[in-house]
Amino acid sequence: MQRQNSQQGRIDRKSVLVTGGAGFIGSHLCERLIEAGHEVICLDNFFTGTKRNIEHLIGHSRFELLRHDVTFPLYVEVDEIYNLACPASPIHYQHDPVQTTKTSVHGAINMLGLAKRLRCRILQASTSEVYGDPAIHPQTEDYWGNVNPIGPWSCYDEGKRCAETLFFDYLRQHRLEIKVARIFNTYGPRMHPNDGRVVSNFVVQALKGEPITIYGDGSQTRSFCYVDDLVDGLMRLMGTAADFTGPVNLGNPGEFTIRRLAEMVIDMTGSKSSLIAKPLPADDPRQRQPDIALAKRTLGWEPRIPLKDGLKLTIAYFDRLLRGTSVETAS
Ligand code: NAD
Ligand code: UDP
Ligand code: UDP
Repeated sequence: MQRQNSQQGRIDRKSVLVTGGAGFIGSHLCERLIEAGHEVICLDNFFTGTKRNIEHLIGHSRFELLRHDVTFPLYVEVDEIYNLACPASPIHYQHDPVQTTKTSVHGAINMLGLAKRLRCRILQASTSEVYGDPAIHPQTEDYWGNVNPIGPWSCYDEGKRCAETLFFDYLRQHRLEIKVARIFNTYGPRMHPNDGRVVSNFVVQALKGEPITIYGDGSQTRSFCYVDDLVDGLMRLMGTAADFTGPVNLGNPGEFTIRRLAEMVIDMTGSKSSLIAKPLPADDPRQRQPDIALAKRTLGWEPRIPLKDGLKLTIAYFDRLLRGTSVETAS
């Protein structure tokens, strides 16, 4: 719980719950919260996350690992909640789509119920997928989206949309202090090597000398945010004034075609991999780029790490992972 710093006379240590804390983004967030002096409860059911991601934190006096599924109620005492628990890549969230929706919706209800009992701040890791295949470009937060409610991706997109609805209903109905971040494509060390996401796929394929799989003609675009920048944005959002709720876009506006990304990865790994075309998945958005004017204005935040620098760190991580050497100490 909150501690008074007697020397400076201000509260600076909080007890923070991170759901999905053993996942890719969650593990970096746990690390940064510990570094900032907070106590962290990392909750995860290890569906896509792994103990390896947080093994360097296990044993730390301010770190606690809790195996739990957010679709079940949780009774703990904390000062802040970051709700990240949810499989995030199509391969994983389509594996058990009903469970994906339950995780987003029941998980949000349970974590909001917890925040309501504790009267504590709660932040939701929402997604750019709430915009679906966007009809406006770049996407601003006031855009309501273009989402297919019955497609194979809907369990994730609509689950996350419903979670946003719940957050705003708990705000209106129970005066909760909520924060909603709409996260755009994020990459970096600790991405799951088999999650099918474009950065991990291309880096792993290039390092193994396997063909790089371009879905469609590769002219679709994405904007890639390095995980350290994203975590910085999440923590700044949590620290905003009580009346700032978001939703706020967090992502890197630098836009690249998928083909260009493949070329960069080949270039940076010195790989001899060829490019091969694969069918474009159903509902694959053509373009995605965040408008981050609101984040700049309200959080004083914008990404600092260029794609090339972030890719270098990501390639080094996957290189260690594939060689079977320790991945955590050097990241
Ligand atoms: P991830 O799969 O690495 O992390 C999700 C974590 O949640 C995993 O550790 C998983 O085991 C855990 N989890 C899943 N279901 C759970 C349940 N029912 N109970 C408890 N834990 C559960 O994915 P990530 O990329 O780190 O994503 C974290 C959050 O950020 C997700 O909510 C995701 O929707 C959101 N997000 C991520 C991106 C991105 O580009 N990585 C983009 C938009 C939004
Ligand atoms: N909940 C929880 N931890 C708490 C308080 C509530 O997990 O500390 C769960 C509880 O099981 C409930 C959900 O959060 O299903 C929503 O709680 P809320 O108080 O909003 O609704 P109610 O209990 O009235 O249905
Ligand atoms: N993609 C690709 N090859 C891959 C994996 C993905 O061309 O091996 C494409 C995919 O079709 C999409 C883009 O890369 O257009 C980003 O895919 P990802 O799953 O990483 O993120 P999302 O579609 O959720 O933005």
